[in-house]
Amino acid sequence: MPAILKGISASPGIVVGPVHLLRWEVPEVPATAIDPADVDRELERLRIAFARAAERLRAVRERAVRNAGEAEARIFEVQVDILEDPELIGRVTSVIEQHFSAERAFDVVMLEWREHFARSPHAMLRERVSDLVDVHIRVLSLLLGLEDHDPVDLPRGTNAILVTHDLTPSLTLQLDRSAIAAIATDAGTRTSHVAILARSLGLPAVVGLLDATTRLKAGQQVILDGTAGTILTRPTEAELADARLRGQREALEGEQLRRVATTDAVSRDGARVEILANVDLPDEAALASESGAEGVGLMRTEFLVVGRTAMPDEDEQYEAYANVVRAFAGKPVVIRTFDVGGDKLPVGGWPQEPNPFLGWRAIRMCLDQPELFKTQLRALLRAAALGDVRINLPLVVTLDEVRQAKALIAESASELAARGVPHRADVPIGIMVETPAAAVLADSLAGHVAFFSIGTNDLVQYTLAVDRGNATLASRYTPLHPAVLRLIEMTQSVAAARGIGVGVCGEMASEPIMAFALIGLGIRQLSVSPLAVGRVKLIVRGVRTSVAAAAVQEAMRAETAAEAERILRARLVAEVDSELLHA
Ligand code: PEP
Ligand code: MG
Repeated sequence: MPAILKGISASPGIVVGPVHLLRWEVPEVPATAIDPADVDRELERLRIAFARAAERLRAVRERAVRNAGEAEARIFEVQVDILEDPELIGRVTSVIEQHFSAERAFDVVMLEWREHFARSPHAMLRERVSDLVDVHIRVLSLLLGLEDHDPVDLPRGTNAILVTHDLTPSLTLQLDRSAIAAIATDAGTRTSHVAILARSLGLPAVVGLLDATTRLKAGQQVILDGTAGTILTRPTEAELADARLRGQREALEGEQLRRVATTDAVSRDGARVEILANVDLPDEAALASESGAEGVGLMRTEFLVVGRTAMPDEDEQYEAYANVVRAFAGKPVVIRTFDVGGDKLPVGGWPQEPNPFLGWRAIRMCLDQPELFKTQLRALLRAAALGDVRINLPLVVTLDEVRQAKALIAESASELAARGVPHRADVPIGIMVETPAAAVLADSLAGHVAFFSIGTNDLVQYTLAVDRGNATLASRYTPLHPAVLRLIEMTQSVAAARGIGVGVCGEMASEPIMAFALIGLGIRQLSVSPLAVGRVKLIVRGVRTSVAAAAVQEAMRAETAAEAERILRARLVAEVDSELLHA
């Protein structure tokens, strides 16, 4: 085994710690027939496994209540209910009585139930499939005595590195933040939502390792370097000492960057760039408001929904939005309507789609379910009465979507007025420019919206036809491809000519070379993860916009992304000499 595993840097920081291997997948079950005399013993094994699973689920629920809240923790109660279902117990019992081992009987029945629920015409039952899968994994792992299937069994302060195939929303909820210090996944890329979540949680992370779960052993001491995107698997004493030193240096740099974060982002030739924060998790608002950000450029509301079994009601949503608005008192807060779909899914009940990123996602799903959409819109209009709220519509490809959304916003305002609820009806409405269609049509869309928010994570994916979450394609996901740069330039120049707002809220905004390119394209508003505010301000303060503009013009004439990157890197390095920018 090589001593170093290379993945993709997803969230910065160095951690030395033991591997906590988590295989959250249904284990293989040997086909064992049992002796008729052993039926009672197998029934007892089943009873004990069910009792233990229920006990674990109750502990997980408690943790989820503390980490996320009662509503989010509800899925674990549902799973306990499944374990206590007399029909399930009766069915597994009868299979054991036909002389199957407890694990075999349970496996067979769960496969039957999952199949049956998945085909049900009732959404309520279809929504239970992912809970059945979780229960399936949990009980089988107990029956088979597999130790690496439990995400919660860690002593406090373990400083463990969670190594798993992919971080699902339900696993995220269960994460014990007092014991997990870093995350490593086989799947994912820098712009996949695992990476975005890891950054929101402030945990160093390496994703896209492809096979870390098979290469690493539970308990093995490793060094995870979230900045370099690597894992050292058999560190020597010298490497351990070096990692600790680099950890200290990063902490020091973090201090410097936090100081820069409190300053204004003004370029060397006097251009002011507004730096805003992306808020992903509802409880991130307070931290984000202290990050030096001048407002919120993107609140991803779908994280109120992922990992939950039911949509939050109007009051719960209002509270979540109001929290952010209050935390950023008086500053602009751009809240995006639900971008559910793609790789951000609620628990269960979602249609299985062959191409989810080209599927029933974001504004499409909302417009098809006007009551669900209006619940969110009413909550947003109510929160808008408390401050400078702006509404942002995701994944727009046609003007019809903007028109329909505006009609529903007007309807929502009338409903609130009829109820006598305080709200603001004339909230500025903008759109995410994250499809080539929106960028190319920017001139016709500009007349109907107050601002453009360029979502480069998706714009790159849809322009280059490269799945943003596919680790195998990571080297083909090139944001500096001249085609992407040209689409951003088109959008920016339309916005400037028409006098509407424009900013970038994708991950490009927080990468030094890419931020340099964006500044060169005339972008004066960048929204980044709260942790990146200092670094981005440092870039702005270290460059001249005239130099950035000349560099990006040259980069756009390049024939390939690699050449564009070379041009921009050379120009940036010549322009600034801060080591902090090369991290
Ligand atoms: C984007 O696509 O760039 C964006 C900011 O939205 P998300 O990452 O949530 O898709
Ligand atoms: Mg997007």
